[in-house]
Amino acid sequence: MSEAPVLVLNAGSSSLKYQLLVPETAEVQAKGIVERIGEAESPVADHAAAMQMMEDDFAAAGVDLDTVGLRAVGHRVVHGGPDFSDPTVIDDDVLDEIKDLIPLAPLHNPGAVSGIEAARAEFDVPHVAIFDTAFFSTLPPAAATYAIPRDLAQKYRIRRYGFHGTSHQYVSRAAAELVGRDLGELNQIVLHLGNGCSASAIRGGVAVETSMGLTPLQGLVMGTRSGDVDPGLHTFLHNELGMSIGDIDTLLNKQSGLKGMAGVNDFRELEERRATGDEAAQLAFDVYVHRLKHYVGAYLALLGRLDVLSFTAGVGENNAALRVAVVDGLDSLGFQVDPELNNARSKVARAVSADGAPIKIAVVPTNEELAIARETAALLESRSD
Ligand code: ADP
Repeated sequence: MSEAPVLVLNAGSSSLKYQLLVPETAEVQAKGIVERIGEAESPVADHAAAMQMMEDDFAAAGVDLDTVGLRAVGHRVVHGGPDFSDPTVIDDDVLDEIKDLIPLAPLHNPGAVSGIEAARAEFDVPHVAIFDTAFFSTLPPAAATYAIPRDLAQKYRIRRYGFHGTSHQYVSRAAAELVGRDLGELNQIVLHLGNGCSASAIRGGVAVETSMGLTPLQGLVMGTRSGDVDPGLHTFLHNELGMSIGDIDTLLNKQSGLKGMAGVNDFRELEERRATGDEAAQLAFDVYVHRLKHYVGAYLALLGRLDVLSFTAGVGENNAALRVAVVDGLDSLGFQVDPELNNARSKVARAVSADGAPIKIAVVPTNEELAIARETAALLESRSD
């Protein structure tokens, strides 16, 4: 049983990412992605067709899903709403509850629902939902509550949920292992900097703050998302330009962030432009760093003491200059980078702070698929006890 693989599915509105892996050994047996699902002139009509393509892909790689001894399917679900705070075995009722959350995540949950339905029809094994919001269900009310009318917030479940939780949890645990201390005694900040970006403050393994909110739009500057703006901006854009709410949503989610400021959403391209003296690229970098500092300082104040600051995801793991910029000038607060460690390229978790510095600064590669596979396996094992 223990060597049997788990299939991890991350179904978006028009894509299906899949990975077949063994939770105990982290061995990846096959992985891939189907894109353009349901788009005009795409050969992939729906998620059921995508599932078929995935199986063909596995077969071509020599993996027969019918005979491989599949243990379970773990589904990434972006929004778990107020009630899903743990991995959950999916039955018809759970699927209905996930559908009921679609108004909270109209861009994300419909894809997950289609993926779950297609996978349940195909694979007669336990299906488990792993929610991106779950790790942040522990946010104290003072952090989770928006200062809007109480009745409205309660009726429509309007609160700060946070996202990327699987990654923040995985990285904070791996960081505790890296520094060789108990998770329970550590105050941590994790910066997940990929296309989407989020920060979290974690006390003793429990999340107490995060930068994303009701939706993944709040907080840090991202590839194409603005992160924090004055909510009055919506009124201004509507009054002055006649923009609709839909237009504004698209503007802030798809045309803002690094792309909006500098024309490119990929951080590597941004760095290439910055190196040529491109003023817009430099300003975009500066805004990105300024916002990060703002959050790191705020979380330091919330935690009262910080033990570990971790960088993860594409930008956090790979961009040494960015890591230096985030803690530049903060020596007196305990942040000291060792330039040699910071510049060394590596795929494994490592400390990049100066020896003896009060705060450990770490680079910890995230692995959401492995985390989902492990949580899926752990839930099923706990149920069979
Ligand atoms: P996603 O949020 O889609 O999972 P990733 O974690 O893969 O995104 O991060 C994507 C971002 O990471 C892009 O902006 C990309 O430029 C950046 N990135 C990836 N590899 C590198 C690298 N080697 N050096 C600098 N930036 C990188």
